[in-house]
Amino acid sequence: MPELPEVETIARGLQTRVAGEMIESVWLGSKPQTMKSPPAEIASTLEHTRILEVRRMGKHIVFELGRNRVARDGVARAPSPAKTRNKAKAFKKAKVLKDPKALGPRSQWIVHLGMTGRMVVCEPSAELAKHTHAVVKLGSGRELRFVDPRRFGRLSVATQGDFDAGGAEPLEVEKERFLMLFRGRNTPIKSALLNQKLLRGVGNIYADESLFRAGIRPRRRLSTVPRAKLEALYGAIQEVLKEAIALGGSSISDYVDADGEEGFFQLQHRVYGREGEPCLVCKTPVKRVVIVGRSSHYCPKCQK
Ligand SMILES: [Zn+2]
Repeated sequence: MPELPEVETIARGLQTRVAGEMIESVWLGSKPQTMKSPPAEIASTLEHTRILEVRRMGKHIVFELGRNRVARDGVARAPSPAKTRNKAKAFKKAKVLKDPKALGPRSQWIVHLGMTGRMVVCEPSAELAKHTHAVVKLGSGRELRFVDPRRFGRLSVATQGDFDAGGAEPLEVEKERFLMLFRGRNTPIKSALLNQKLLRGVGNIYADESLFRAGIRPRRRLSTVPRAKLEALYGAIQEVLKEAIALGGSSISDYVDADGEEGFFQLQHRVYGREGEPCLVCKTPVKRVVIVGRSSHYCPKCQK
């Protein structure tokens, strides 16, 4: 299941490959559970828009879409290729210039990969993979396809550009806000870390790894964790996620290429999945407990 660093890597790969492209047409499959917005609305929101930017919000991939400004005769102006390439930049510039109308109304295409979802950028001649649920034809002639065998992935649109992924972004949240979010709760710290209403996108693996680095036991009640430890956790979460993103960055091409092979390098886990193996710091065997139905791994000596 793709976690935050993987989704970040995929979003960056897509930004490199498809930002600036026009969406010419959209084909959607017939599996209703994949479409979180009505299929007709997804198609009409995407078609004839330009992909201004692709970014990650929590574990969602968000395509920022803009329509070309319509000229007085009602015909959409065709931008020059140079403009196309710089569209994402131009969009940011337009915001700075306080000219929201410069690029027409915005909307968003939101993709959640679920367990097995994959975004593939390929030539139209590439064989259509089994379990393809969406094919987006791009101005360059290439196609962007959504493939998802287990169908936990979701496609939706926000026509006002107001998609809210909920919770705070772990890589952007300020330290004081982080401390406020976690202060005074009586739940085990691990379950608070997995609560998407607090922080969005920190999954099971990265929660365990962060708690190890901060020296906090996953079952420990939040209200008993001193401020200094919470500050250490704040730093550890960012460190773990950034390291994983840096590792993933080298394998972007494998992840979104036509063959869809997953060449993602994983962060070497210090506790996650290492039950019974010696702690890398003190050699004490790593323990596993179940908290809110999820396996949690920790070193009983290094984590208090
Ligand atoms: Zn240890």
